[in-house]
Amino acid sequence: MAWSLLVKGGALVDGTGAPAGPADVAVEGDRIAAVGRGLRGEAARVIDASGLVVAPGFIDAHAHSDLFYFGCPSAESKVRQGVTTEVVGMCSFSQAPVHPARRDAVRSWAGGVGAALELRWETFGQYLDALRAARPSVNVVHFVGHGALRLAVIGPDDRAATPDALRAMERLLGEALDAGAFGFSTGLVYPPSAYADTGELIALARAMAPRQGLYFSHIRGESSMLEASIAEAIRIGEEGGVGAQIAHVKAAGRENWAKMDAALGLIDAARARGVDVSGDVYPYHAGSTKMDNLLPAWVHDGGIERLLERLADRATRRRIVEECLVDGERWRNVSMGAVGFDEIQIATCARRELEGLNLAALARQTGAAPAEAMMTLLLDERATVAMVVFSQSPDNVARVLAHPAIMVGSDSIGLFAGEGPRPGKPHPRAYGTFPRVLGEYAREQRLFPLETAVHKMTGMPAARLRLTDRGLVRPGFAADLTIFDPATVKDEATFAEPHRYPTGIPWVIVNGAVAVDGGRFHAAGTGRVLAP
Ligand SMILES: [Zn+2]
Repeated sequence: MAWSLLVKGGALVDGTGAPAGPADVAVEGDRIAAVGRGLRGEAARVIDASGLVVAPGFIDAHAHSDLFYFGCPSAESKVRQGVTTEVVGMCSFSQAPVHPARRDAVRSWAGGVGAALELRWETFGQYLDALRAARPSVNVVHFVGHGALRLAVIGPDDRAATPDALRAMERLLGEALDAGAFGFSTGLVYPPSAYADTGELIALARAMAPRQGLYFSHIRGESSMLEASIAEAIRIGEEGGVGAQIAHVKAAGRENWAKMDAALGLIDAARARGVDVSGDVYPYHAGSTKMDNLLPAWVHDGGIERLLERLADRATRRRIVEECLVDGERWRNVSMGAVGFDEIQIATCARRELEGLNLAALARQTGAAPAEAMMTLLLDERATVAMVVFSQSPDNVARVLAHPAIMVGSDSIGLFAGEGPRPGKPHPRAYGTFPRVLGEYAREQRLFPLETAVHKMTGMPAARLRLTDRGLVRPGFAADLTIFDPATVKDEATFAEPHRYPTGIPWVIVNGAVAVDGGRFHAAGTGRVLAP
């Protein structure tokens, strides 16, 4: 018996949540060949994991790297966290299908993250072929974005789907599932996904129910509308007959923090009556998205050029301020709740010198009121600004993370440090999510045992996605492994210095290939586009 790789002497945390125990793991090619104590056999390569934990490769249950794989297929900031599989096509965004006349709108979704995409495809299948050719270093579980479906059929306008349009979206959804999509995602705060009513989404869910497609939902409101929005997502799953996942569960805006108990209660009650609903969370009390999402949905009606025209119009700006400014000092909208201007930080924009500045500081610098400074920034940057928003309660983050139906999803893009493709001050979750759960929440705060933390990053998302050969360390399973030091594993990325790799994760193996080797990064096309 000759194996390609033998990982010896580690403590196995197998992804099921079961207690750690000593075990060696043998790999042959891209599969796990044997698991057990004191394995004996020839191996081309031996890794000594003494004092370390051997776990399944982490599955990022909610990621946006698809907007960036073509610019950064290495996804180094993810692989160095131990991530070997990412779930993408989230929050209504996917780069296919594309209507040839609406390429610019799809491209603008990735605009905030900098990739200059050509979008040479039209169908979801053609897109996945291009993605395979880009050879990402992580495995990819892809959803199709409801925004892409709607944009292709209806366009960027705020109107209801006609029966014909609904049938056309169902057909495109079916094509995407045939090509390899695991289901569809919404972003019900992001136009044009936000323009759908509940009935449209139930109809789409029903159309994919016979195929066991999944519905991943960025819900309609994470602030004042939190409970109604979670109830809507549960209803879409329940009446549509599909599994539903609530994305990045949070209560945004201080005045809404107390709603979290009721929100989790809705998930518990649905599960108690047999509804297949779960959720994901990132371990930070700040979120991140494009800054134009601070504007009300009607400002986006008709697409980016219409949005810029509105921002250039004084009367429209006054109307926006009247609608969103609270007490003259906080900004309220449906996705963020009410947040102070000093809690909204510029993450990335074309003028590098502004990155890292908050809107209160920008206002002082420009001499304008904060709301005016924000709208002028969006106008000058053609709405291509990413932000970090401190809108959540740290207590709620821990409570959600500990919930038995919630897994870990970073909601972020795979990047690389130094002169990477996307400098600036992005949210540190792109570099720190998984080691932060292990180090800060499991080891330091003792929120849950290490085995539970690993389960929320491996076996739980694999079961959610019905991946039958990943997420656990078992003979016959794919050889995706993360080897870390439970005593030192730590996220090093901060909001001030986000481009820092974590420490304490010396080896990461993707499909049997050693992608991180003694702390050195080697990934080159080690991932695969996975099929449902
Ligand atoms: Zn989202």
